[in-house]
Amino acid sequence: MLRSSGVMEKNMLTRKMADVASGLRAVRDKVAAASSRRHPELAYFKPRLVAVSKTKPAALVIEAYEAGQRHFGENYVNELLEKGHNPDILSKCKDIRWHFIGHLQSNKINKVLAVPNLYIIETVHSKQLATGLNNAWPKFRKTEESLLKVMVQINTSGEEEKNGCQPSEASNLVKHVIENCKNLKFTGIMTIGKYGYDPSAGPNPDFLKLRELHNKICQELNLDSRAVELSMGMSSDYEHAIELGSTNIRIGSSIFGYRAKKGE
Ligand SMILES: *Cc1c(COP(=O)(O)O)cnc(C)c1O
Repeated sequence: MLRSSGVMEKNMLTRKMADVASGLRAVRDKVAAASSRRHPELAYFKPRLVAVSKTKPAALVIEAYEAGQRHFGENYVNELLEKGHNPDILSKCKDIRWHFIGHLQSNKINKVLAVPNLYIIETVHSKQLATGLNNAWPKFRKTEESLLKVMVQINTSGEEEKNGCQPSEASNLVKHVIENCKNLKFTGIMTIGKYGYDPSAGPNPDFLKLRELHNKICQELNLDSRAVELSMGMSSDYEHAIELGSTNIRIGSSIFGYRAKKGE
């Protein structure tokens, strides 16, 4: 793992403006190439690229937006609030779509739902959170028909520090969203998975697990499998994830450059 000590070094590792556009271009090319390697059954959709801008300044969000990027992801509530309400982003990025991809505590629901241009919450991990979002949404929606898009996050790797519901609870949680949360629109399932898996060792077990759960959920709840997305794949493994059927990849460092770990 790359460790940086000095500020100098960190600055050199953080993408400069011009590099964001070229980082994006490189990622888009790889996304297209990986998409064309998919099984023909998976070729009915184009994977959505979510640019994860956590720890990066508003200026780089604007830069990526101006290079054509529309979907952005944040995983800390405070950063989503800061950038979501940033006046420059609001005036220059009218069509920006924010994905919340972090742990959401019930006491922060109102703050997150108030973010203009919030597109989706990818990380619903419990019935309690789903119910909280469902009850709060009417206060924030622009029109009565507008539903809040959500994905259910599943802890496919079983690691204690990872959020998400247990695989065995996933179907039940999705059922709760569909049957009891009329203000929510269930759009798919999401996983983070184990870090550092080496795809040359074979298909990533977390991605296989998410796919298996996708099939199970669609079967048990009688859902159209094409209408249920798979959010999986980050900088280190998004091409692999696309080949395995990901519809939504979340890419940070490959676009915006190295990111210091919290506390570094
Ligand atoms: C940070 C983060 C990403 C992006 O990570 P990179 O490795 O920088 O691409 C994706 N998903 C989630 C949930 C994240 O927190």
